[in-house]
Amino acid sequence: MKEIILAKYGEIALKGLNKNTFENLLMKNMKRRLEPLGKFELDRQQSTIYVDSQDENADFDAALEKLRTVFGIAALCKAGVMEKDFEKICEGTYSYLEDTLSYARTFKVEAKRADKRFPMKSPEICAELGGRLLEKFPNLSVDVKNPEVTVTVEIRDTNAYVHAVKIQGAGGLPVGSSGKAMLLVSGGIDSPVAGYMMAKRGIHISAVHFVSPPYTSERARIKVEQLCEKLTGYCGNIAFFCVPFTEIQEAIKDNCPEEYFTIIMRRLMMEIAQRLADRDECLALITGESVGQVASQTLKAIACTDAVCRMPVFRPCIGMDKTEIIEISRKIDTFDISIQPYEDCCTVFTPKHPKTKPTVEEIENAQNSFDFSKMVDKAVEETEIKLIKF
Ligand code: ATP
Ligand code: MG
Repeated sequence: MKEIILAKYGEIALKGLNKNTFENLLMKNMKRRLEPLGKFELDRQQSTIYVDSQDENADFDAALEKLRTVFGIAALCKAGVMEKDFEKICEGTYSYLEDTLSYARTFKVEAKRADKRFPMKSPEICAELGGRLLEKFPNLSVDVKNPEVTVTVEIRDTNAYVHAVKIQGAGGLPVGSSGKAMLLVSGGIDSPVAGYMMAKRGIHISAVHFVSPPYTSERARIKVEQLCEKLTGYCGNIAFFCVPFTEIQEAIKDNCPEEYFTIIMRRLMMEIAQRLADRDECLALITGESVGQVASQTLKAIACTDAVCRMPVFRPCIGMDKTEIIEISRKIDTFDISIQPYEDCCTVFTPKHPKTKPTVEEIENAQNSFDFSKMVDKAVEETEIKLIKF
């Protein structure tokens, strides 16, 4: 039987005047995701996008898998396409849903009649088809409140669609609908998760990564690019900015008190990230910080870092435990890459006793003993840019 995919959107349905923009973006993102799988046609009606293909060999299972990673889709299902004739719909439902209905105990039928010319009204379709299914599948009984299976019949302009198995979509808003932000990405577990979480809210992600050769290796940078590649599955293309940071780190080591190394480094990272964000039209920064996880993530330390930030800094992992962050990293398949043991510039010259409760004044004094501005300019200048493609 011919099948199509129905993608139902969640939050977008609640948008007022902007709804059209959101829908167009969602459809564009879906099309791009499906492109490698062949030719699919998308059509939207009543908070649902219908994914169809004229291609006999179109792989709807693969398409379903791809669409599960598209933000903005609340639920997905495959549906059998049937002629708009009640007898045909009954026969079609028996065969299309045989596997599901043979093993279920309770069910109900829901009908949506978009085509008002169809001779039976929705309650009649439910009652009639429900009765037929009870006869056909003696294992079933009706439960309208909490059924194991809901058989949905949709009568549309050209065809009838029948489906029963809904799978959860990625949720959120279409990537790009909320503007763009710069993710500070390390090789760790947290920052890729942070990028994923903000992309889920419709933010298009660019990424900046700081490297300090020879203290950090080429392999460490490649690992970060691989993490970004994984993220593209959810976020689309990512502009990747790789900042040479060695000179600055050595200058911190040679000129600033050791206990402040990390915070000063983080402040300089933020300054550079903001400069690149401006250039790339990003309106915010994103980090993978979580309160109390390390010395530089106490409230006081975060305040010192934020003191140099003139754009919003989003830290979606801030209130999460490591185990919760790990759970998401496994779900988005970045965990196994993140745990590969390569060095990060954050672990170069780490102080033995970092100050966990610095004040902004202390830090400014410690940092002002050296003029970093030229080095910052140079690092921005020498940043390498690369497009990591979906
Ligand atoms: P992660 O698991 O994301 O590395 P973490 O818990 O190890 O985080 P830190 O190493 O203190 O924490 O880094 C805090 C945040 O700073 C990271 O989540 C990331 O956003 C940013 N960051 C750290 N190292 C780099 C780097 N080399 N390049 C860009 N951003 C970085
Ligand atoms: Mg780290």
